[in-house]
Amino acid sequence: MRLDIEKVRIYAKKADNKALIDRVTLFQSGMEPEALEIIKLELTSRGISAFEITEHEEKYKEKVIRGPEGMPRLCNNCPSPATAQEWGWLKVFGFVPIIPWKYLFCEDHKTSHK
Ligand SMILES: [Zn+2]
Repeated sequence: MRLDIEKVRIYAKKADNKALIDRVTLFQSGMEPEALEIIKLELTSRGISAFEITEHEEKYKEKVIRGPEGMPRLCNNCPSPATAQEWGWLKVFGFVPIIPWKYLFCEDHKTSHK
């Protein structure tokens, strides 16, 4: 699959700082080198220092829940890396809770932060 540089540029302009920092730290191993460069340049142009990026990585790297391939799992509500696992009821057909199911949430969406 060829990387669509233009799409990465558009994404980099639209995404918020935290989403971009997540991409160059926690999701780095799943990113194309060219995409990483674009995002790093965007962060630099927003005045985000290398120190802030490292600090973010240090804060989250032990917290995130990773899949078997080592990549962070995503929050059920947004594209942020998940840091909490909570039990809920899996709703079959959208309304009948049948199976207890583990949901993943990021720092913003986990219950203790609501
Ligand atoms: Zn979230």
